[in-house]
Amino acid sequence: MSTEEWDVIVIGSGPGGLTTAACLGSAGKRVLVLERHDVAGGNTQVFRRHHGDDWYEFDVGVHYIGECGPGGLFTNIFHGLGLDDRMRFREMDRDGFDTLSFPDFTFRVPAGWDEYLERLVEQFPSEQAGLERCLGVLRAVAEESRMIFGEQRPTYDLWAWRPLSELFDESELSPKAQAVLDHWSGLYAGAPKQTATIMHATIIGHYMNGAFYPEGGGQMIAARLVQAIEACGGEVRTLAPVDRVVIESGRVAGVRLESGDEIKAPIVVSNADYRRTIDHLVGHEHVAPGTAAWADQAEMTLGLVCVYVVVDKLVEGPNTNYFVFGDYRTDELYEDLDRGQLPKGNVPFAYIALASRKDPGNAELCPPGHTNFQIMTLSPRGHQFWGVEDGPADGGTYRRNEIYRQRKQQMTDRLIDAAETVLGPLRDNIVHVEMATTLSHERYTHSTGGTSYGYMHSPDQVGEHRPHYRTEIEGLWVVGANTVSGHGIGGAMSGGVFCASDILDRPLIIEMYMGERLIDPKQIAPDGDGFDPLEYCRGEKLRAKRAGRVQSLRQRRVDGLSG
Ligand SMILES: Cc1cc2nc3c(=O)[nH]c(=O)nc-3n(C[C@H](O)[C@H](O)[C@H](O)COP(=O)(O)OP(=O)(O)OC[C@H]3O[C@@H](n4cnc5c(N)ncnc54)[C@H](O)[C@@H]3O)c2cc1C
Repeated sequence: MSTEEWDVIVIGSGPGGLTTAACLGSAGKRVLVLERHDVAGGNTQVFRRHHGDDWYEFDVGVHYIGECGPGGLFTNIFHGLGLDDRMRFREMDRDGFDTLSFPDFTFRVPAGWDEYLERLVEQFPSEQAGLERCLGVLRAVAEESRMIFGEQRPTYDLWAWRPLSELFDESELSPKAQAVLDHWSGLYAGAPKQTATIMHATIIGHYMNGAFYPEGGGQMIAARLVQAIEACGGEVRTLAPVDRVVIESGRVAGVRLESGDEIKAPIVVSNADYRRTIDHLVGHEHVAPGTAAWADQAEMTLGLVCVYVVVDKLVEGPNTNYFVFGDYRTDELYEDLDRGQLPKGNVPFAYIALASRKDPGNAELCPPGHTNFQIMTLSPRGHQFWGVEDGPADGGTYRRNEIYRQRKQQMTDRLIDAAETVLGPLRDNIVHVEMATTLSHERYTHSTGGTSYGYMHSPDQVGEHRPHYRTEIEGLWVVGANTVSGHGIGGAMSGGVFCASDILDRPLIIEMYMGERLIDPKQIAPDGDGFDPLEYCRGEKLRAKRAGRVQSLRQRRVDGLSG
């Protein structure tokens, strides 16, 4: 072992890992975050594509989040970590932050449970009773799920763990009404039959006080957390893939990097994919057979594919996401995807998020007069759909594979077709287009099957059925999308607070909700001129190494724009 020693090592810098690190740092722990990629943030990252001296910037996994208003989850966490003045959120259209385009009608999803129900009843007047029943249950489960300290939760107890399809059936909803109510399934990737009612209820609840986008893009979330970690004496080190958690006499002693270097710490928190943590970083010999079996056999969610587009024209319209559906099928779409095929040979739906509408002030996105947007959908399960046997995390290659390239082209074309139905003709104005597949996601984050949503949210895999933060190995903890708190930026970050609370045996989330500051904002270094969240997330060492080159690139860009 080297002499390098920390109080805590966090493996992986997703929102779950960074939040855990910042919370532990605030309590005086010296924390080292080790990230395999050259940028911290996991799915909150952005990436840039250069065209001459200019570039476009694209979000990976932050398109909209809820809970950013007064009293919201993010509001309280960022305030608690001394970051509230540095994080700004732009609210999307309250009267329709999601616009659903079906073959016969368009439905705009408003903020507010009452407003949502009212709009559903307007759309399906003959189904008023069923809609009231269904939404009443979803609302009660969402609201009761916030009372996590043992109060009686009657609707929750009755419905939380039952499949959503049973609620739809008992409410006697028509296929069209079910399809409208099910548009949220794209945000957790599961069919009504496969999904616990609590998952559906809490995802709706997350957005019912409004939908928001972080000013400066998803990377800003990670950059602020890195600032907080550094302010507490911690370090975020990129290009530092961990190969193994070192376990001695049944307890954690530190980690070994792929480089062979070892770093000591009595506490290790893994924000890496849970299955890979158990199979590769820990090894089955260190865990009970039941733990290894669960990690390997539990079903993962489907992964996403995403087309990143810039067009050289302004696509005007409200600040909304679009969901385009070719028909009203719900369970059947997922049955096809689970079989490894596209439903009826087409994409299941297209989810379009317009970054430059949500954050028009972000000059990194695209030049003035351009529009930057992304089109997403779910991928069929398995690597075979993409024509490969092994995924990139296990050493498989794919980018030159002919089937892979054909599938990519086919899905890109279909997704652009779908986008044109709501945004108008675009093809002739495209100045940048590329697609990321589940294999790209797997290559960057090493998540099983390339999903960012973790294990499926079925009744037997949701909430308390998922891995807890504390593991059976003394000193080893886990956090992130696969764990009890679930996926999404909200699930991962709240999980970070809960995981740190368990380590410290201190109710941090309550302290945050009571308005306490865990970190004094004055402790955190000022941004300085030209603060760039992407560069900040390289971590202190890589940031310093790249500073000169980055400054000259920026200067050339400014010269190009003014010339
Ligand atoms: C296309 C897309 C759109 C999305 N849109 C939204 C959205 O709009 N709103 C929302 O709330 N959520 C969204 N999500 C989901 C959300 O981004 C994820 O659920 C969330 O980021 C998961 O966080 P996590 O803490 O589990 O870590 P992750 O983000 O999964 O990061 C894990 C990190 O661990 C690192 N790592 C893994 N193994 C090692 C190792 N051995 N050594 C060192 N480092 C390692 C990885 O490189 C990675 O950086 C989206 C995701 C995608 C892909």
